[in-house]
Amino acid sequence: MNRPVPPPAPASRPWPSPQRIAALAILLALGGLLTEGAGRLAERRAVAAVAAEGQAAWPLASAALLAEIDRQRTVPVVLAQEGSIRASLRLPLAANLSAVNEKLRLLAGQTRAQVIYLLDKDGRAVAASNYREPDSFVGSDYRFRRYYAQAMAGGSAQQYALGTVSGRPGIYLSQRVDEGGAPLGVVVAKVELGAVERAWAGTGRPTFVTDAQGVVLATGVPDWRFHAVAPLSVGDIAKARLDLQSPDADLTPLPGARQLEDGQWRLSSGREAGRFVETVAPLADGPEGWRLHILSPVDGARRAAGIPARLVAALTLLLLALAAFLLARRRRREQEKRDALARTAQALEEAVAERTVELTRANGRLEREMAERAEAQNRIIRLRDDLAQANRLATLGQITAGVAHEINQPLAAIRTYAENAGRFLERAQEEAARENLSHIVGLTERVGSITGTLRSIARRPAGGRARVELREALDGAMLMLSTRLAEQGIAVALPDAGGSFAVEADRLRLEQVLVNLLRNAMDALRGHPAPRIAITLERGEGRVRLAVTDNGPGLSPEQMERLFTPFSTTKPDGLGLGLVISQDIVSEFGGRLSAGPAPGGGASFLIDLPRAENR
Ligand code: ADP
Repeated sequence: MNRPVPPPAPASRPWPSPQRIAALAILLALGGLLTEGAGRLAERRAVAAVAAEGQAAWPLASAALLAEIDRQRTVPVVLAQEGSIRASLRLPLAANLSAVNEKLRLLAGQTRAQVIYLLDKDGRAVAASNYREPDSFVGSDYRFRRYYAQAMAGGSAQQYALGTVSGRPGIYLSQRVDEGGAPLGVVVAKVELGAVERAWAGTGRPTFVTDAQGVVLATGVPDWRFHAVAPLSVGDIAKARLDLQSPDADLTPLPGARQLEDGQWRLSSGREAGRFVETVAPLADGPEGWRLHILSPVDGARRAAGIPARLVAALTLLLLALAAFLLARRRRREQEKRDALARTAQALEEAVAERTVELTRANGRLEREMAERAEAQNRIIRLRDDLAQANRLATLGQITAGVAHEINQPLAAIRTYAENAGRFLERAQEEAARENLSHIVGLTERVGSITGTLRSIARRPAGGRARVELREALDGAMLMLSTRLAEQGIAVALPDAGGSFAVEADRLRLEQVLVNLLRNAMDALRGHPAPRIAITLERGEGRVRLAVTDNGPGLSPEQMERLFTPFSTTKPDGLGLGLVISQDIVSEFGGRLSAGPAPGGGASFLIDLPRAENR
């Protein structure tokens, strides 16, 4: 019996479990965080790089501004030492002043100073480079200007302010003119920073200068001028407006700009919209409190760094996840294979164990059966031997009875003949007595032939072989059965063929075969109205054949099949061994015993034997 191998467990569940979904969600969130973290890190680095660029740009921007201021700063310093200037201040005569006017005009043209002018010690302009122009400064009072007051007090000053006449912003550089320890007046040069501002505007980085209060002065973004980087108090605003000479100055926080944490700005209007990182430092050699701011745009760099970093991180994580998934799947499949193999092996082991038990049991059964069969075989052999013995005894009994019957008749006849011979002798009828005596002699010869046959049977050693005439064996058999044949009234047709039908055999045993065949025929003919047995002899190629044919009921196909099988008999007192033994004997003499239907119904038994050599 084959035990079916249990089907393997399903390879994977159709739907992931809630735990798996939760783990997946956590992994996705982690992946997102890592990706975002990588992006931010890259952005921070990019911002740091931009800030570094801003720091690198800062010295250039500050140098450009300071160089411009310094260059113009020398003008009032040199002029303050000039003799003609001093002379014109000492003696403000028309001739002196007109020469100074012209000198200042030429000087302003050569330098990039917007206007250069000379104030007397009361703050009134006595000469100016724009003396010829309609809005000439000459005669104007600058007493309340900081650059005048500070220069008079401290020797020099600088102030960023709106020009009262021109309305244009610029830096006023002033220098006191001294003579003999007493101030004569102040030389002032106004410098406009338009060139520097334009240069700043072209850098793409909003660049501007704030004063100590955080008010934007020079700037690359013109809109931001006079706005503050941080809200100012009302007092500060008023003070600044005064200082800047700009009563209308807004001084509100920078429009469209918002300062973020960690030095970054967000600009929301104009060309420079977006996020910027600020580089700011005081201008060391510049006007007091001035600070130079450079805003460097970071959006481009952030994008350029952040997007690829996020992509690379996401891709790396994806690849890692894929690798982990593939690895896990491979492990799982290998585990499944191992499990399936283990299950199959276990099932096989169980099947083998079961089969082994079954086989052991079957083996035991077989051994028992074999022992029983051997025992049965032995019993059969013993039984067959016993039966053969019984058969032999029965045959012997029949022969004895037959012999007694055959001898009784001649004996009775001899007695009758002897009595009659006695009587004939009493009556001296010698001739009749002699005739009776000769009958007696004939009868004793008959008895002698019977006893002779018996003696020959008795003398023949079992198993010995000699040349036997089939006809003689047949006679022997007929002799034994003659009484019964006569009783049953069976007509026996004996062979009429002449010549020798000699075979090499044991006559006694051959007769036993013939007796058996004839007795079977007689048994089959019991109760038959016209019983007949025909015995024929026939010669062939080195062979002789004897056939015993009767007109009895014949043999059914089933009987034909089992005819030579031991113990197959249809008779109530039969043993079913006669034909078996007969066949054995015939084959012992190198012949064959066979049976078949007779032509007119009945059975026919054929003995086919090799012919004995002629001597
Ligand atoms: P037994 O005579 O003890 O039965 P045999 O071996 O001599 O054993 O015969 C076997 C059987 O063959 C007989 O029982 C009988 O049925 C059948 N048989 C033998 N000879 C004849 C025959 N001439 N006609 C019909 N049946 C026969």
